[in-house]
Order: sequence, then C-alpha cells, then structure tokens
Amino acid sequence: MIQYLSTRGSIRPVRFDEAVLSGFAADGGLFVPDKIPHFSLTALATMARQGYTGLAFGVIREFIDPALMPDADLAELIAKSFSGFEAPEVIPTVRLKDNLFVQELFHGPTLSFKDIAMGFLINCMDYFLQRRKERLSLVLATTGDTGPAAAYAAAGKTTLECWPLYPKGMISEEQERQMTTLGAENVHPVGVTGCKNGGDDLDVVVANLFANPEWKRDLKLSSVNSINWCRVLVQTIHYFHSYFQVVDHLGEEVVFSVPAGAFGNLCAGFFARSMGLPVKTFICATNDNATLHRVFAQGVLSQKELKQTVSSAIDIVIPYNFWRFLYFNCDGDAELINRFVSEFEAEGAVQFPEEIWTRYREGFRSTAVSDEETLATMREVFAQHDGYLLDPHGAVALAAVSKCDLGAHPEHKVICLATAHPAKFPAVVRQALDEAGALPEQATHPAIEAAKIQFHHLRTCRYEILETALTAAMRQRLDKTS
Ligand SMILES: *Cc1c(COP(=O)(O)O)cnc(C)c1O
Repeated sequence: MIQYLSTRGSIRPVRFDEAVLSGFAADGGLFVPDKIPHFSLTALATMARQGYTGLAFGVIREFIDPALMPDADLAELIAKSFSGFEAPEVIPTVRLKDNLFVQELFHGPTLSFKDIAMGFLINCMDYFLQRRKERLSLVLATTGDTGPAAAYAAAGKTTLECWPLYPKGMISEEQERQMTTLGAENVHPVGVTGCKNGGDDLDVVVANLFANPEWKRDLKLSSVNSINWCRVLVQTIHYFHSYFQVVDHLGEEVVFSVPAGAFGNLCAGFFARSMGLPVKTFICATNDNATLHRVFAQGVLSQKELKQTVSSAIDIVIPYNFWRFLYFNCDGDAELINRFVSEFEAEGAVQFPEEIWTRYREGFRSTAVSDEETLATMREVFAQHDGYLLDPHGAVALAAVSKCDLGAHPEHKVICLATAHPAKFPAVVRQALDEAGALPEQATHPAIEAAKIQFHHLRTCRYEILETALTAAMRQRLDKTS
C-alpha cells in the first residue's frame, strides 16, 4: 500500500489518514506518495464509463489502504462529496470550436474549482476524526475561492472548527458573502485589513501558527489549503474525466491549459500524466503575477511584489505546490529540495541547475496574460460563441493558448480549464463587456443572489494584531464547545 513521505525527507512514512489530518508534514515539508501507481488506458476507460464518481473511486482507491476505509465507506464519501454539484456529469466539458474545449470546473456549491477537492477532503477528515473521537481547527488563508469552499464543506460538522482568513477588500464581495452569510456555528470568517501582499501575508501568519508546537497542539491546528495531499489527489481526476469526454481514440495526446496560482491544479495534472494519461503539453497560464512563468521560461523561482489583477484567485507570488512537483523531478532527492528551499528562503530566489530545469519543463509551456488580454478574451468569446461567458480565470487559460506557440501540433485537442463561475466576478464581467446596466443572465447565479439579502457574520481585524486576536478566539471557541 502507498505510504506518505515528506518533500523534506525527515519523517517516517505515514498512512493516508495521518497525511490528510496533519496537512503539513512534521518537518515542514509537503506530503508525497512513496510511489505513483500506473493505470493502463483501458483500465481508465473502463472506470470512465461509470462517470466522474466511478473514475474518482478507481483512482482514489489506489491511494487509501482499505483497512483505513473500506470500499463501501469510500464509495459513500465520494457520493456525498459530489451530490451538491448542479451538473449531472459533475464536471462537463464543452466544445468551443473545432479542437478547442472548455472544462467547466465550477458547478459545485460555491461555484469554483475549489469545491472539487474540498468536499471530499473535509468529509474524509470528518470520517477519520469521528473514528478517533478527535476534533480539529482548520485555519486557512484564501484569495477568494478556497474560503467559501471550505466554509461550505465544513458547515455543521461537529468534528471541525473552520477559520477562513481573507484580505478584506481584495476578494470580490460575492466571494466574501459566500463565507459570511452561511451562518454555521462552526465557521468563523475573518476579514483582515492592511495586507499588502494579499493572501500571501495571511499565509505567513498561518505558517507561524503551525511552526509553534504549543499552538499546533492546543489549538488542534490543521490545514486544508492546497498543500494538503488529498486536494492534489482529487484534482487528478478531472484530467482523466475530460480526456475521455473529448478524445476520438484511446492513446490520443491532448493539451491542457490551466490558470495557475499555487500550482496545486497543475501539480495534479502532472500526477495524472505520471499515472498514464496521454498529455502532450500542459500550458501553465499565469497573470502578471508570473512567478510560475519565470519558473518554466527562465528556470528561476523568484518572488516579486504582488500585483492586484482581474484574475484575483491567481494573485499569488509563492506557488508552494511547486516543491512537490520538483521533488518528483529530482527523483525524490529530499536533500536537494532542502537546499533549494533554504536558498529560496534566504535569498528570495533560486536558479535551478540546467539539468533540473530541462527535466521539469518537459511537456510544459508557460505564459503570463495581462488584464487587457483577459478582458479582451472574455469579450471576444462572448461575442463569437453565442454569449458564452468565461470567468476571468478561464479567460486567462484560453488567452494563454494563443500566446503559447504550440508549434507543429494544431491537430491536438486543447482543453482549457475554466475554474470559476462568472457570477463570482460581476465587476470584472462589467468591465469586459463594457456593460453599465444589467448584466447578462450568464453572469448571475441564484446562490449568489440569495446571499445578497442575508446578514454578514464576520470578524474583522488589522493585520498587525491578527495572530493575537485569532489564537485567543480559537482557544475560546474550543473551550466553549469541548
Ligand atoms: C485556486 C484557483 C486557481 C489556481 O489553482 P492553483 O491550484 O492554486 O494553481 C485558479 N482559478 C481559480 C478560480 C481558483 O480559485
């Protein structure tokens, strides 16, 4: 059975439940499976015939010891996690034209791609915690979509307290309301003012909490951000799923274009390819916060100041899942990873040796899409494809396809990952369509409308006092409910 190691190499192997409940490994690294299973295409095709949840069962089964979770329980957790999706096929893929497709990852309860892995992850945590008779506090920093997905999935779970932290004024009001109007007793959104680097500032506070062993123990800390292995695992499945929806014959190679922030989704794509999916190229599509573009195009991981863009969910300057991907491109050499991490932490930049850069960029292209290009793409697609409305992140993925010269491969099918519903970003839609009055119906959603006429339940604080105020509130809440 697969066990889990750390990218930093100094923990003993742990089981799936341990990896999922702790989030970070005890040595500060990211959990990685000790082997990657390989599926034959015919095996995958058979699983795909049972729909998205059938595929999910087949893939996830390989990563969890049945002694920890028997087949029937796994099937039930998967069914429960995806029952709130509004599309019957869970994740539809639509053809825009010819060989160009859009995979719609936003039909979950909070209308972003974060719902895909979050429901299963939180149901899994609840499952293991119930058996252990334990509780946890989830603390997470959000750039706008992780918070709502986690809040929704955790609402009402007696094993969990959920503390989403967000940079106030830097996410859309619609996203904020998705967290603050839930009214669940165990969900405590905190709007933080004065974050110069947006969500990255909040990540620092979260990392500080985890680095303090007393807090980690007393506050029962855990994390569901995209460093959690379970999220990467579940995100491999949509790559398989859309592959079988678009190809004409098994074995055909396809291209995926992915809007990338913390690199969780693309890292999952890399695992899907490692497990046997025929992918010709992954396009790593960033906005002007182009850390990942520099990683692929220049072989350098370097941190620059955050810029606020119209694709705010990928306004991220440190793509922490990159270490997980790099680990497999260095044959699991944890010592080497430690050297790179130390250099990055000390210097704010690391230039990778030529042979490592050459290896990890194999089958990857990258580009940075400006706000003007994003808005123009939304406008053009809307005009040319019957009012089909992309959200700004899906537009980044689509714009990246024409910016990246795919060379001599026009015959390959290209699948763009649309990661959010446009109704989460009405102000950007207005800007793109140059619309002063009412927005088109495609830019609205009943769940967003419902949240507009409910009370906010939230705490706010200044960035400087966040750590003090948060730890006190968390302790109080645990005392009150234990
Ligand atoms: C989180 C998110 C992304 C980026 O995914 P990563 O796994 O962080 O690279 C892209 N688009 C939207 C809408 C998101 O919420």
